[in-house]
Amino acid sequence: PIQPREQLDAVDSVCPYCGVGCALTYYVDRERGAISFAEGRDQPGSKSRLCVKGRYGWDYAASPQRLTKPLIRIDSAYPKGPLSADVRGDGGKGNGNDRGRVEGGNRSGGGRGDKKLGRDGRRKPGGLVDYDEVMPYFREATWEEALDLVASRLKEIHATQGPGAIAGFGSAKCSNEEAYLFQKLIRVGFGTNNVDHCTRLCHASSVAALFEGVGSGAVSTTYGDVVNAEVVIITGSNPTANHPVASSFFKQARRNGTKIVYVDPRASTVAEHADYHCQVKPGTDVAFYNGIMHEVIRLGLIDRDFIRERVSNYDELARTVADYPPERAAQITGVDADLIREVARVWGEAKAGVIYWGMGISQHTTGTDNARCLIALCSITGNVGKPGAGLHPLRGQNNVQGASDAGLIPMFYPDYQGVDAGETRERFEQAWGAKLDPNRGLTVTEIIGSVLKPGGVRGMYMLGENPFLSDPNINKVRKALSTLDFLVVQDIFLTETAEFADVILPASSYLEKDGSYTNTDRRVQLGRKVMDPPGEARVDWEIVQDIAQRVGLDWRYTSPSEIFDEMVALMPSYANLKHENLGLSGKLYPNDDPEHSDGTVVLFDERFNTDDGLAHLVPAQWLPARELPDAEYPLVLNTGRLLEHWHTGSMTRRSFALDTISPIAEVYMHPKDAADRGLAHGELVRVRSRRGVIELQVRISHREQLGNCFIPFHFREAAANLLTIDEIDPVGKIPEYKFCAIQVEALGAE
Ligand code: SF4
Repeated sequence: PIQPREQLDAVDSVCPYCGVGCALTYYVDRERGAISFAEGRDQPGSKSRLCVKGRYGWDYAASPQRLTKPLIRIDSAYPKGPLSADVRGDGGKGNGNDRGRVEGGNRSGGGRGDKKLGRDGRRKPGGLVDYDEVMPYFREATWEEALDLVASRLKEIHATQGPGAIAGFGSAKCSNEEAYLFQKLIRVGFGTNNVDHCTRLCHASSVAALFEGVGSGAVSTTYGDVVNAEVVIITGSNPTANHPVASSFFKQARRNGTKIVYVDPRASTVAEHADYHCQVKPGTDVAFYNGIMHEVIRLGLIDRDFIRERVSNYDELARTVADYPPERAAQITGVDADLIREVARVWGEAKAGVIYWGMGISQHTTGTDNARCLIALCSITGNVGKPGAGLHPLRGQNNVQGASDAGLIPMFYPDYQGVDAGETRERFEQAWGAKLDPNRGLTVTEIIGSVLKPGGVRGMYMLGENPFLSDPNINKVRKALSTLDFLVVQDIFLTETAEFADVILPASSYLEKDGSYTNTDRRVQLGRKVMDPPGEARVDWEIVQDIAQRVGLDWRYTSPSEIFDEMVALMPSYANLKHENLGLSGKLYPNDDPEHSDGTVVLFDERFNTDDGLAHLVPAQWLPARELPDAEYPLVLNTGRLLEHWHTGSMTRRSFALDTISPIAEVYMHPKDAADRGLAHGELVRVRSRRGVIELQVRISHREQLGNCFIPFHFREAAANLLTIDEIDPVGKIPEYKFCAIQVEALGAE
């Protein structure tokens, strides 16, 4: 029975899912040892609102599938490789080590999820790792034994093959303190900058362009600032699914008169709330924005004073976009030339405008160029540095901003201080008491590639990441990472990646620890412990510290706030912040007076963070995607998220409410594309690319463009990343998740 609210314990925390970082309160029944319900709490960025994930998606932490004891692979001679059939993808015939191309897909499940009963008589959640199949390859161990083994194997690889043979993937789901400690361990304990996390897969190209353009990777204004904008462009994003509460701010602003221009290949629900929907062909963003800038300049709607005083390289930009009159832009993008003209006029005439963008901009081989165009469009119209104007890459995970800020990236120490700058390195060497690697480390995508090369990475520490499902072209990823000499995975569930581990360390969910998280607005908030970790599972920062001590570091942190204080002392942007002054609503950074101020909403009101204080415009030419449709693979695949699910589904697919609402994988197709193939709604189909094949159901959707399909990437049994291409953006090193060529056919077709 649900206890009355007065008898429940109220714990104020933050939602663990998207970058909006909604404030909430968990009501905990201490007798049952369980959360009874969650409620939104007032905070400037969420105003007591929650989406379905925040409101109902917390029960995964109580899943019987939680890891509760350290595990060690039983027979180290056993050839490591995919253990369960649907990860192996070969129907159970053997391990994947020596297979050049492994086709994926759960033949029996057909994307519906395998709902058979496990040994304990419970229904197995659809499409999750088969514990019964995998567990026999592991034995339980004490923490002492597991930690000693991790430290000794990593030290051995470090000693015999050098620092470059070690790499660490941290997680944007972890707190700032955990991200900081993890990168410090890899840098100080192993002498390498080979440390990265999933920012590489979401906004690395946006951050690269923002650094180059305005000298800072963070947003220049908040999503709440939409109320001050006359017009906003929402582009390459489906905020209703991916940033639902931020999306409610956009829709509310429109009711108060803000115009919304929506630029996206899909007609997601935002299109229904937009004044203009420019349904660009996938991969044509540079041409579209060059066309808009061409017209803004032609109409004389640029801000000449702003350009003269605060911008460099305008003339070269103007020369480049001169080649993109609306007619040419229309030809490339498929958007009517008159609509391009109209949007340019509306943007150019507005007194203030913000551009909000998502991974439809960043996850391309031209991702950095796409973001450069957005920076240029804002800059030439004076739309940065004042209320209702600015640049806002909508960050994906709850703490992807904070993890990047804390230095969980291979080219920067905390606060984006370059590892290759001598003076900066000396400062960090002094602070950390160790000699540091002067070279930039490898990114997530480069680490995967290096594993198969002589002298590459041989030992890895994986904290909360699941690249066996999240990375592009996962057949290649699985093949590479399964050949590592040693892999330790620290996680709360037996993920697809943990199946390949030598040692698995049971970690804590965010409900089981204190820590700070930084949302997409630069708001640093406290997540507070609601309950203890199950069994022998432990808090992540303590596990990292235990490994650090075993590799010879004299770390004696006693609390997350102590770690936070050390981190802030090295991060000018976070100056003045302390756990004690974050309060119930958190604080925006930069913040001169957190005791009395919420922090700075609008950045760059007087100068940009670049060396000369100017915005640096970098013009871009449109380039087509790397793999275009052809006769064999005539459709374009776009991947992304659903409202009810999150990333590789390890949390949301174990949430009863969320998995019940959205239990199966589907490929979304335009009605004509389905009709041309004789496919009916709900029919099982096979989707092929040059890299893999999956089987799943068809959803006929008027939101798709003709010739384009959409597959969410949460479903292991129909893993979209078996299909995606691992081409990367040359600057941001981000993969092209949003464009590859596929074929869709009825299941019986040859
Ligand atoms: Fe959580 Fe994001 Fe939903 Fe807010 S909008 S409740 S942060 S998933």
